[in-house]
Amino acid sequence: MKTPFVSLEQAKKIIEQYPTPFHLYDEKGIRENARLVNRAFSWNKGFKEYFAVKATPTPGILQVLKEEGCGADCSSYTELKMAEAVGFAGEDIMFSSNMTPAEDFVLASELGSIINFDDFTHIAFFEKLAEIPETVCCRYNPGGVFQVANEIMDNPGDAKYGMTKDQMKEAFRILKQKGAKHFGIHSFLASSTSSNTYYPMLAKILFELAVELKKELDIHIAFINLSGGVGVPYGPDETPCDIMTIGEGVRLAYEEILEPEGMGDVAIFTEMGRYMLAPYGSLIATAIHAKHIYKEYVGLDACAANLMRPAMYGAYHHLTILGKEDKPCDHTYDVVGGLCENNDKFAVDRMLPEIEIGDIVYIHDTGAHGHSMGYNYNGKLRSAELLLKENGEVALMRRAETPEDYFATFDFTGLFKK
Ligand SMILES: *Cc1c(COP(=O)(O)O)cnc(C)c1O
Repeated sequence: MKTPFVSLEQAKKIIEQYPTPFHLYDEKGIRENARLVNRAFSWNKGFKEYFAVKATPTPGILQVLKEEGCGADCSSYTELKMAEAVGFAGEDIMFSSNMTPAEDFVLASELGSIINFDDFTHIAFFEKLAEIPETVCCRYNPGGVFQVANEIMDNPGDAKYGMTKDQMKEAFRILKQKGAKHFGIHSFLASSTSSNTYYPMLAKILFELAVELKKELDIHIAFINLSGGVGVPYGPDETPCDIMTIGEGVRLAYEEILEPEGMGDVAIFTEMGRYMLAPYGSLIATAIHAKHIYKEYVGLDACAANLMRPAMYGAYHHLTILGKEDKPCDHTYDVVGGLCENNDKFAVDRMLPEIEIGDIVYIHDTGAHGHSMGYNYNGKLRSAELLLKENGEVALMRRAETPEDYFATFDFTGLFKK
């Protein structure tokens, strides 16, 4: 069972002021979850969750997470600027980029953020721009396939990120020579995982690497960054990850591998995006058309430009027709948007209650990689983002785009000169 965090009555009230479609976020849910994450890792003195800004690059959301003690994980110039605008500073910003442009490194350095090098050639590239900081991080890619039990979780050998083990050693050697004093190791091996063993398994790999690097290079490993990848249950029958179990699993690996080596001061960092936000956001749309040809279609005022995951990955997002929560799901629909692309479907052959024009459709779990992946295809405009505050009020965090916004980047001067 999946339950919306607003009722039809609440939604109708919001819609009076802000027309659909819009993304709505649940402040209470975000805060409670962030507190649980911090509790799950409270055994580690230096623990910090650096929220992956790309998942929900909205200052209002970043502010809430900042108040809960999170840092910001940025991967581009604009994300860095946003983190700065929200008040993240220094080592509260992790800069985990790849194929990084020079100006991004310059800004990351000016902000004093922790730089996570994706490749060892980036060190020479960076050195021409700024001084190597005392605390640095390198991204590791162990290659091969990553398995938990017998299930293949992902294929790092196919991923463009990170360095081989030999390159990690070389990178740390060079960085040490250049004056770096505290080292971090980062790796992202699997996305959207549903197993409580992903982080513990990854931690074990990185802890063992940390011990090896420390011994071989005589360096201080200051932190291990487990990055993102913890999943959420998008489907109604999926079991959620248990962050307390995950934190406990990482602790066991820590006690087994790091502590005996006198490395009990290593901080654990995470960079979760999806787990921090996905369940606490929803895309709220109105059914504006119904169409029967070879199948039954319901057309929404939202489209894949507002939520790309179903079109891009065939991802499942649960739908609730607000006010019809208790009605039987005895109709089969394709619930679609208006793009001139046949993959613009929020749901295919989905069993739902009978939908009438004007019904409010609540699309679940859009809080991460939802609005942020929006685009302007077909001249569609990005929607507003609203925050349902803990006191029940609704705050506008980002207004909906207008045609003027879309036109703002055009330059007609050269075109229409007589
Ligand atoms: C995307 C990304 C994350 C967040 O991933 P989630 O699956 O949303 O947890 C964290 N770190 C880096 C470097 C990323 O690219």
